[in-house]
Amino acid sequence: MNSDLVSLIWPLTVIGLLVAMLALQFQNQRRLGRVLAQAERRGKRRADSERDSREAILAALARATRLLFNSRNKQVAMERALAELGEAVQADRVYVFENHRDSASGRLLSSQRHEWCAPRVEPQLDNPAMQDMAYDTVIPNFRAILERGQPVHGIVADLPEPERSLLQAQSILAIVVVPIVIDGEFWGQIGFDDCCQERRWTEAEINALGIAAATIGAAIRAIRAEQELADLANTDSLTGLSSRRLFLQKARALHREALQLDKQAALLVLDLDHFKSINDNHGHLVGDEALRWFAKTCRASLRDEDLVGRMGGEEFAVLLQGVAERDARAVAEKLCRQLESSPLTTADQQIQLTVSIGLAVSHPDEQDFLGLLKRADQALYEAKRNGRNRVETSASAN
Ligand code: GH3
Ligand code: MG
Ligand code: MG
Repeated sequence: MNSDLVSLIWPLTVIGLLVAMLALQFQNQRRLGRVLAQAERRGKRRADSERDSREAILAALARATRLLFNSRNKQVAMERALAELGEAVQADRVYVFENHRDSASGRLLSSQRHEWCAPRVEPQLDNPAMQDMAYDTVIPNFRAILERGQPVHGIVADLPEPERSLLQAQSILAIVVVPIVIDGEFWGQIGFDDCCQERRWTEAEINALGIAAATIGAAIRAIRAEQELADLANTDSLTGLSSRRLFLQKARALHREALQLDKQAALLVLDLDHFKSINDNHGHLVGDEALRWFAKTCRASLRDEDLVGRMGGEEFAVLLQGVAERDARAVAEKLCRQLESSPLTTADQQIQLTVSIGLAVSHPDEQDFLGLLKRADQALYEAKRNGRNRVETSASAN
């Protein structure tokens, strides 16, 4: 072989190897670039979908908040608010549980109050197992986390017992539960179930659900305050009977209905006799006790559907629907006799109560409820004038 040719082989081999190495590195770099670009696209897609999901939850939450604070019927508003959230997070079931204590043992219990379900899954609202659930035996692990104000979430198959068995029995595959805190107290929980896939909730979604729980807590507090106000206006706190306001509102409606159906309605106005002397002789507290006793006696001798109200002081009213004058008078007489024969028993004595009653029965020519009320009042005045502890009936309206 020519020595010039031999001396060229080595440099050519080295150059060849270098080129091959460069080509390999270039290829590796391209592959790495492709892999990185793919990962970046996947990451961006995930970030987009997380952001979309979080934004969908927040948009649903805005609608749910408007519903909860602007609707008249709060129960219906709560169901619709849960539906908005359920659809936004694509859950199969959304529910609210309220905590309460067992009256005997004081154990912390939880009962389902509201629920929304996707059409494909079984509702659990009527499941008796979802009522009076004892935290320490049914969901002890959840309790520890929720009481710290933190959410619980995960794939059901990965959860510890006894939660795993409880949820698997309801065909739940994944769950997130967020505590509802009202006035600093662990009031209950809002939960989201997945029954079709083992979904992993993202941190952004869980944060958004935390805002949902806070909003629902605020709405529940507002609903409770509203309910307390309505109860105050509608119920007499001393006797538990309807207030004057509610009695008149319901009595007007029943009177109108009776006239439309060609039936009769009877109105009784009742006033305890010489009540001032009960206060004077026994004190105001015994007077209060006497008013409660009278309300109880009244309720016990009337039908459930008869309307009874405290009109103020020691004056009460009863509306009987579908009752003719003779029967209404018999009811009033029976009430007088009942009260006469059942004195109020205090620690050291028995106090005899009597009542005077004015009765008026509706008439097709008298459409105005106030006319009926006025006639019953006049009859009461007659009952007082004629000696008390008696019933007087108003002359028919003309
Ligand atoms: P009459 O037979 O004519 O009806 O005489 P009366 O004493 O029952 O009637 P009067 O209107 O003179 O007095 C009513 C009394 O009822 C006076 C008032 O202090 C008392 N009273 C009104 N509301 C309450 C209450 O909530 N608790 C108590 N303890 N007493 C009440
Ligand atoms: Mg009186
Ligand atoms: Mg009076």
